[in-house]
Amino acid sequence: MSLPEFRLLRPHTVDEAIAVLAQHAGNIRVLAGGTDLIPSMRQKLFEPEYVLDLRGIAELRGVRVRDLGRGTPLLAKEARNGAPTSEVEIGALTPLSAIERSSYLCEHYPVLTEAAATVASPVIRNMGTIGGNICLDTRCLWYNQSLAWRKGCGFCIKKDGDLCHVAPGGSKCWAAFSGDTPPALLCLNAEIEIAGVNGTRRMPLREFYPGDGINYRKLPANELVTRVFLPAESAGYRGIYRKLRVRGSIDYPLAAVAVAMKRTSSGNGVGQVVEARIAITAVNPAPTLLMGVSELLAGKNIDETLAEAVGGIAARTAKPLTTSALTPEYRREMIRVFTKRAVLAAWN
Ligand SMILES: Cc1cc2nc3c(=O)[nH]c(=O)nc-3n(C[C@H](O)[C@H](O)[C@H](O)COP(=O)(O)OP(=O)(O)OC[C@H]3O[C@@H](n4cnc5c(N)ncnc54)[C@H](O)[C@@H]3O)c2cc1C
Ligand code: SF4
Repeated sequence: MSLPEFRLLRPHTVDEAIAVLAQHAGNIRVLAGGTDLIPSMRQKLFEPEYVLDLRGIAELRGVRVRDLGRGTPLLAKEARNGAPTSEVEIGALTPLSAIERSSYLCEHYPVLTEAAATVASPVIRNMGTIGGNICLDTRCLWYNQSLAWRKGCGFCIKKDGDLCHVAPGGSKCWAAFSGDTPPALLCLNAEIEIAGVNGTRRMPLREFYPGDGINYRKLPANELVTRVFLPAESAGYRGIYRKLRVRGSIDYPLAAVAVAMKRTSSGNGVGQVVEARIAITAVNPAPTLLMGVSELLAGKNIDETLAEAVGGIAARTAKPLTTSALTPEYRREMIRVFTKRAVLAAWN
């Protein structure tokens, strides 16, 4: 499958990138690591006249800690000691491998490093970025195919057609959001920075995904995701990520769950849950925070029954359809089982 022809534009600053986006709005795609965009362009899912390559924008790389009382952010490796007192800033172009290997993030935000370490394979994590993972297109068996395949089997409403093969008769696309780090970021109450012609704004990540397979993110074509922020209050939560995939060494999730849990510590080493946040991915058109979990678990010791109850919430929140390789019934059951196991692992 050949790449369609396009003109590659390489800005060196965010301002330049925004100006280029505004100039070619509607006919340009953003390229970060390219690990998802380039295969999609080969499949002729996107055929833009221009591609905006962000990789020359150095200011968008790196993990920094904004310490209270200090104006300038420190690189995470310089701020390794002690509990964080202020937020962490991750540039959108930071490779997933840098997040996975950041000792600062491993210590304070382990749910994120666990999730990042499961994306694809080591080579892809060296190229793929956190911004690209957040902005990842939704996936479906009827969509992520070559042009010849889609022509033969029939186009669908996500691209060029007028029906949905998965839910015929409906007008909604149910393609599954299949990024691994967004559920972890949701558990950490992360925010993202978005840059456009009118300047920058911050948005809680939980407001970024509207839950539609076609318009899967609230990002106008002339805007960029530039940074991710992790609040200090989310540091120190225990973190677990569990993922179902066909090939353990390199694959998108087919159902996955992130858990961030805070416990009290008492003299005998047994504390209660103070707060628990759980999010699932790959079973809905958006990564989704489970509702009511903290209320259910706060102040309690977790046992099998409680963990099973949380698994039940996850299974009821998941709406898997025939968008992916394994059956919806299996994926729903696995999200129940994985959630239960992840809750017990975070507790223990
Ligand atoms: C074999 C294989 C296996 C994979 N397995 C997984 C997996 O297990 N889990 C997983 O999560 N992903 C997986 N991926 C997908 C991909 O590698 C990752 O999601 C990666 O993080 C994407 O980042 P990128 O920088 O390469 O994004 P790109 O491919 O450059 O971009 C992805 C999308 O985001 C947009 N975009 C990128 N950056 C920005 C930005 N800053 N602002 C606005 N829009 C932006 C692009 O326009 C494009 O639409 C896999 C890919 C392959 C090829
Ligand atoms: S869910 Fe339906 S509309 Fe969406 S990509 Fe799949 S077949 Fe197409």
